[in-house]
Amino acid sequence: MFAVGLARKQEGLVDFELKKPEIKGPKDVLVRVLQAGIDGTDRDMIQRGQKDIGEGEDFIVLGHEAVGRVEEVGRGVRNVKPGDIVVPTVRRGCGQCASCLDKGSDMCSTGLYKERGIHKLHGYFTEYFVDEEQYLVVVPPGLEEVAVLAEPMSIAEKAMGQVRHIQARLPWGCFHPEHSFDRPGWGACKKALVIGAGPIGFFGAALLRLADMVTYFIEIVPETALKVRRMQEMEAQYIDGRGITPESLVKRMGNPDIVFEASGASELALGLLPVGARNGAFVFTGIPRGQSQVCMDGDLLLRQMVRLNQIIIGSINSNRRHFEAALQNMVEIDKRFDNVLHRVITHSFALKDYRDAFAPIPDSLKVIFQVDEGAQAI
Ligand SMILES: [Zn+2]
Ligand SMILES: [Zn+2]
Repeated sequence: MFAVGLARKQEGLVDFELKKPEIKGPKDVLVRVLQAGIDGTDRDMIQRGQKDIGEGEDFIVLGHEAVGRVEEVGRGVRNVKPGDIVVPTVRRGCGQCASCLDKGSDMCSTGLYKERGIHKLHGYFTEYFVDEEQYLVVVPPGLEEVAVLAEPMSIAEKAMGQVRHIQARLPWGCFHPEHSFDRPGWGACKKALVIGAGPIGFFGAALLRLADMVTYFIEIVPETALKVRRMQEMEAQYIDGRGITPESLVKRMGNPDIVFEASGASELALGLLPVGARNGAFVFTGIPRGQSQVCMDGDLLLRQMVRLNQIIIGSINSNRRHFEAALQNMVEIDKRFDNVLHRVITHSFALKDYRDAFAPIPDSLKVIFQVDEGAQAI
């Protein structure tokens, strides 16, 4: 079978011909890959030649966002069956720490985890993979066409879950107890700012809007860009990030209760720290890849954070529960915003055209591989 990834002794993205994997253990499941998504992590690994290849291997198959169809199951498999459409999770826990042993490998405390398509394990830019059933989440009916988006959505779910968990310290955020962060109506009477309108920013905004939060977003692309329009279709409001200052931002939208950072643009993000509301939360999900010296008023920042009870957190990866929540909320988002998720995938390539898929594509939002081209059912 065809696969795409990085090899120890070759430069850049290469393709391989691999043997189709087989079920070995009773809990194993063989999955036919239908679609696989491309994201910034893949692009960065290729660009930097970061080859996180497993021990004893000469290559790593990339790709950590996928949807597939179950073809065969081991004799001990109980929760999936052949024909099911499933999404695989990414991280495989260390097996040693309390988080990993409690189904929370996204919060692994040893750092000895592995990740499919990123760190030591083969990913999903291929035709088949085998994994244990505990790492596969069944896709709800009607969501098959966009389920490849479940992984990036799960990243937003995890980040927002962390914010809500911490902000449940504020049952009195407004005069309505039903709007506290641990209730279903958590977003009402609050304002959010999303930085960056790429896929993670889009999913962050989707969750904020689904919770009825008044949501603004900053982008440095013009308002006519496709990713800006997708955000506007969820009634998130565009702010041109070019030349923005904390003062002009606050004048435009007031002080946000949540800032969801998804650009990885450290200077822009850190420069906006002083805009946060009293008791506000900043969550960082973008990963800056370079080096950046940022000049800022540190006294102002610390003064503000202390006096206004603010929090800053970083969030990475997601566990099975976040994937399950992601898929459920994706159904709701499509219902609420006129099938907007069906317009997030802007470009689709066959796996053999991987060089075109990784070339810069103007005005794109989500680029995917249609791995099984005969899969019209999805
Ligand atoms: Zn661990
Ligand atoms: Zn309220």
